[in-house]
Amino acid sequence: MKKINYKSFPDKEGHFAKFGGKYVSETLMYPLNELYKAYIKIAKSTSFKKELLGELKNYVGRPTPIYHASRISKELGSCNVYLKREDLNHTGAHKINNAMGQAMLAKAMGKTRIIAETGAGQHGVATATACARYNLKCVVYMGSDDIQRQKVNVYRMKLLGAEVIAVDSGSKTLKDALNEALRDWVTNVDDTHYIIGSVAGPHPYPMIVRDFQSIIGRESKQQMKKINKKAHILVACVGGGSNAIGLFHPYLEDDVEIIGVEAGGYGLNTGKHAAPLNKGKPGILHGNRTYIMEDENGQIKSTHSISAGLDYPGVGPEHSWLKDNKRVKYVTVTDKEALNAFYYLTEKEGIIPALETAHALAYAFKLAKTRSKKNILINLSGRGDKDIDTIASLQGMKV
Ligand SMILES: *Cc1c(COP(=O)(O)O)cnc(C)c1O
Repeated sequence: MKKINYKSFPDKEGHFAKFGGKYVSETLMYPLNELYKAYIKIAKSTSFKKELLGELKNYVGRPTPIYHASRISKELGSCNVYLKREDLNHTGAHKINNAMGQAMLAKAMGKTRIIAETGAGQHGVATATACARYNLKCVVYMGSDDIQRQKVNVYRMKLLGAEVIAVDSGSKTLKDALNEALRDWVTNVDDTHYIIGSVAGPHPYPMIVRDFQSIIGRESKQQMKKINKKAHILVACVGGGSNAIGLFHPYLEDDVEIIGVEAGGYGLNTGKHAAPLNKGKPGILHGNRTYIMEDENGQIKSTHSISAGLDYPGVGPEHSWLKDNKRVKYVTVTDKEALNAFYYLTEKEGIIPALETAHALAYAFKLAKTRSKKNILINLSGRGDKDIDTIASLQGMKV
C-alpha cells in the first residue's frame, strides 16, 4: 500500500482527494470561511485545548473507560473484545464531545445564538445541554415526523431551554432539518453559529467534527497501551460517520485493521437500507461530494434503518475517501442482526447499547468467531435508553 499522510487531509479547500469540498451558494461561502479562520486560530490554541479538556473531564466525564468484555469474549472464541465506553458520557453518547467543542468555539467567536439539526434528537439534546452550560440561545431544527417519533428527546430539549422548530418539507426527517438549519444560518450569521452533528456538510465541518471526536481514538490508544495490549481490529458503526472517524483517525497510519459498519436495514437487495458506501455512488449532498443514495433521476432516495441515528442517505466525505483508497473496509449489518447483538450484549455483559452501536457489535461478534487471538476494539457509541420504546414495541409491549 502506498504511504498516505492521513493527518494532512483535508486540504485547505476541504478535499479528501475527490471527496468533500464546499458545494454551497455564494452566501454560505462567507460564514464557512469565517468559521475556518476562527477554528484554526482559536481551537488550535493551547489555552482552548486545555479548557476543552477540563470540560470534557469534569462535565462530560472523560476519559471513558475501555472495558474488556470477558464473558462474551470467551463464548465467541479466542479473540478478546474491548469496548470503548462512549455510552458513559454525559447525555449518553459520543455526540457531546463535538457539541461541547463547537459551543466553546462559538462562545469564543462572540456568537450568542446556536442552531442545530437533529434526527432522533440525540444531537439536539447534546447541543441543548452545551448551550445551557454556556448560556447560549439554542434553536433545534427537526423533521415533523421525527418530532412525532421522538417525543421524549423533544421534551428534554425544551427542558434544557431550547426552541424546537418543526420542519415540514421533503421527507420531514433529518436531511430536511439540515437544509433548514443551513438556511437559518445564512440569514443570521452575525450572531449565530451552526453546530452540525456529524462529519457531514461543507468544509470545514467534516474536519472540525472529526478533530473534536478524535479524542475517542487518542484516549483508546493510551488506555490500551496502559494495559499492555494492542488493538488488532477496530470496529464502529457509520451513520454520518462521526463516532467511527473519532476512533479511526488517530489509528489510520498504524498497523491495524479498520472496519466501518453501515445500516443494512431489511437487506441490501431490498433497497430499504442506509448504506451509501456499499450501495450508493458519488454525488453531492449537503454541500460536499461523497457517496450518496440517489435514484436514476438524481433524487435522494428514502432510507431505512431500525436505528434513527444511522438513517441518513449520505456519509462523511472522509469515509468515502477511506473506502476508495481501501484503508477502511465498510460492511453492512441488517436490522435483525443488530437486534440480536443488542440482546446479546445486554444479557451477557449487562450493558444496554444504542441500536446504532448494535450494528458495530453484530459485525464484531461475527468476526470474533472466525478470527484467532485478535484484540477487537469496538466503539460503544451510545447507550440504549432512548431505544427502549422501540425494543418494547417489537416485543409487543408498551413501557
Ligand atoms: C448519532 C449516533 C450515531 C450515528 O452518528 P455518527 O455520526 O455516524 O457517529 C451512532 N451512535 C449513536 C449512539 C448515536 O447517537
